[in-house]
Amino acid sequence: MGILEENRRLEELDKKYIWHPFTQMKEWLEDKPIIIAEGRDCFIKDIYGKWYLDGVSSLWVNIHGHRKKEIDDAIKEQLDTIAHSTLLGLSNIPAIKLAEKLVQIIQKSFPLPPHPPLTKIFYSDNGSTAVEVALKMAFQFWRHKEVDGKNTFVSLNNAYHGDTIGAVSVGGIDIFHKAFGPLLFKTYKAPSPYCYRCELGEEYPGCKLACLKKMEKILKTRSNKIAALIIEPLIQAAGGMITSPREYLKGVRELCTRYNILMIADEVATGFGRTGKMFACEHEDAMPDIMCLSKGITGGYMPLAATISTDEIYNAFLGEFKDLKTFFHGHSYTGNPLACAAALACLNLFEKEEVIKTLKGKIEILEAWLKNVLILQHVGDVRNVGMMAGVELVKDKKTKKPYDWEEKMGWRVAYQARDNGVFIRPLGNVIVIMPPLNISKQNLNQLLKVIRDSIVKVTEG
Ligand code: PMP
Repeated sequence: MGILEENRRLEELDKKYIWHPFTQMKEWLEDKPIIIAEGRDCFIKDIYGKWYLDGVSSLWVNIHGHRKKEIDDAIKEQLDTIAHSTLLGLSNIPAIKLAEKLVQIIQKSFPLPPHPPLTKIFYSDNGSTAVEVALKMAFQFWRHKEVDGKNTFVSLNNAYHGDTIGAVSVGGIDIFHKAFGPLLFKTYKAPSPYCYRCELGEEYPGCKLACLKKMEKILKTRSNKIAALIIEPLIQAAGGMITSPREYLKGVRELCTRYNILMIADEVATGFGRTGKMFACEHEDAMPDIMCLSKGITGGYMPLAATISTDEIYNAFLGEFKDLKTFFHGHSYTGNPLACAAALACLNLFEKEEVIKTLKGKIEILEAWLKNVLILQHVGDVRNVGMMAGVELVKDKKTKKPYDWEEKMGWRVAYQARDNGVFIRPLGNVIVIMPPLNISKQNLNQLLKVIRDSIVKVTEG
């Protein structure tokens, strides 16, 4: 079979057999799919040999680039011993070594007292499960402490914590979550710290963080019902790269402490350098009680997640077998040795290549570009934390009137960029920029140039 014939066959088979996530399949079936055959550095190549800059890190997971030798080698080496064994009733070497490494890294990130350190690693295999674990852990913690009634959670409007039912229950994006309303457990919703479209009609900094005050009201009056508050620190990513104002996160931490509510930081998107520090919570010294990690943990190689708790939470689950204090949760691939070996190699690379230090110059390039893009006719707002950025397109800049979502403006820009060798995936009217952290300055400039040209062409052309 010739190569063209084989490519067409793959396209047909894809359409025949694959149901793609977050995708209207009717549209997919009418389109020509891009099928990726290879990756290298911060590029991905389709089956026809066309290379694209991976502008969203293969859905926010890739850190050190594709086919990074050290991670490739670590997986191959692990394959020569064992690919998988269970963590239910057994342990394995990479899972142990990775747990130690994660605890050390987190302790380095939060050196200041009086934080109770995060010391216990509970593995799972994706961001949603990391969140499910955190919610169940927080809920059960209070049971074991014999504190009654703390049966619900506080989450934020515009929050996204994953797609399993628990994670959706603490989500706050109507377009994704509303359909499942009848299935969800009740949570209290705090305002989203979305300054460009403040839901309280206030303006920063004159508002003096009115959204935080509103949150405090919920916590103060309902603290006896709330097990935990869950938050995406500094940036509500899937909600539209919504960055919170300075001191907001610190304020959330203080409120949780004041009202005896556990703080869960969902660092699934922000963890591992994306924000310019290892963890987003570091920026405001807001150490959570439970931290959820996934995505970048393996450098974008293997599915792996970790939910990390304090000793106090862990200790509450200790007891006699008959006490039934066991944390009854676990997945078949929990602590998978191949994934843990990849993660260890990924974390070692952070040290070896001093990744965090290398980001400063790139963040400056990104921020200068964002400033420059803000002057465009249909750009309403630009936002970033470190290497996570969003450009919000608007129909009318003066009134902030958004494009109707059916217009798919974000997608039109993304398709335009795709034609010019850049792969990005928007969130509604927000263009997302989140390349692998190892991207060279030259490639970053190229990525940004194509995106700017695409915005101009689609919105002004
Ligand atoms: N939490 C956050 C903050 C996320 O951004 C995501 C995914 N975008 C998730 C959880 C869910 O992760 P996963 O897709 O691996 O289930």
